[in-house]
Amino acid sequence: MTLSASVDLTIRDISTGTRAGSTCTTDLLTAPWDVDVSPGYGPGASMADPIPATAPRQGELPQRYRDATADELDARVRAAKSALGDRVVVLGHFYQRDEVVQYADYVGDSFQLANAAKARTEAEAIVFCGVHFMAETADLLSGPAQSVILPNLAAGCSMADMASIDQVEECWEQLTELYGTQPDAQGRVPVIPVTYMNSSAAIKGFCGRNGGIVCTSSNAETVLEWAFERGQRVLFFPDQHLGRNTAKHMGVPLERMPMWNPARPLGGNVHEQLDDARVILWQGFCSVHKRFSVAQIEKARAEHPGVRVIVHPECPMDVVDAADEYGSTDYIRKAIEAAPAGTTFAIGTEINLVQRLAAQHPEHTIFCLDPVVCPCSTMYRIHPGYLAWVLESLVDGEVVNRISVADDVAEPARVALERMLAAKPKA
Ligand code: SF4
Repeated sequence: MTLSASVDLTIRDISTGTRAGSTCTTDLLTAPWDVDVSPGYGPGASMADPIPATAPRQGELPQRYRDATADELDARVRAAKSALGDRVVVLGHFYQRDEVVQYADYVGDSFQLANAAKARTEAEAIVFCGVHFMAETADLLSGPAQSVILPNLAAGCSMADMASIDQVEECWEQLTELYGTQPDAQGRVPVIPVTYMNSSAAIKGFCGRNGGIVCTSSNAETVLEWAFERGQRVLFFPDQHLGRNTAKHMGVPLERMPMWNPARPLGGNVHEQLDDARVILWQGFCSVHKRFSVAQIEKARAEHPGVRVIVHPECPMDVVDAADEYGSTDYIRKAIEAAPAGTTFAIGTEINLVQRLAAQHPEHTIFCLDPVVCPCSTMYRIHPGYLAWVLESLVDGEVVNRISVADDVAEPARVALERMLAAKPKA
């Protein structure tokens, strides 16, 4: 793959004044191993989000990787991959930097990648160049003899971290106290929990144990339909925006979507708001998609008459309403592929994907709605240095940074994922 789509090079060029533009922080040039020594999500969109004390920390990367040049790391990664052959599969998320994605055997969204891992039964090791919850999902779906490896343990997800299992259990206790667990005359239970794929395995397990289900940004509407048939209310976490945008599109009025703030009793609601709720929205968000605004859309339309604006459903509701279309990363990719040559697109999603799409489709004009270059800080923690380290460790017979979900969590989490697979899209 060509590196013309590289966000890293764009950041370097902007930071050194070789290119016009701005980035959200000058710290983006700091090597991830220097960032790993301090707590926090690191430079990028999530850097201002509070990080839980329990978030995994990455140990020190051996000096030989920290000192290596880009060319040396490239040679090391290629040699290790070739030595391992089919014993390893490398997965690269759409939002991952090009300097890492170039080594991926598969590139996709979290669910596509977990399924790709599942299909490669001969691979002993699955190296997931994404974030922590994605590696957990790959572990849930892969075979028992396969090891899933996250090259940098500090690559979490600030949105997934906004709903901890303790907070969710506490919320559930309060809702169960209010409504019990008995179904109504139509057989609908008081509350059905629905979690976005971007959540920990513990939360997926919670859903599996409590009659709930997982959704992706592609099938959220189908999954909500499934849940509405079975429950009087849906408890949706962790992303308020995906929940609100999807339920609103399905005709649920905003006043029937109270927000749950885990720091307050009853989530900061009065009893009546919850009685009447159709969807209770957890107060979580993605700091990458929160950056998009209606003003950016207006500017794009003024500067590029006829521009097609497509945003991700993790964007705030006013942005989704102002866009021409909204959809998952897969939807965005397919819409660009299907468009007649010469179309201009303004895209509201992570910059690495937008720049890669622009490089792959020179027949179109494609740009990111946000003019400030600000990658997902947690994806950004994966660097070729970490990839070289985990791959060379495998060559030496050592599995480092293994992500393994405990059986008591994995079993119900798989139940919630299987329910999602069985929930069919509308005709
Ligand atoms: S883009 Fe947002 S939801 Fe996706 S990994 Fe980054 S912080 Fe998490």
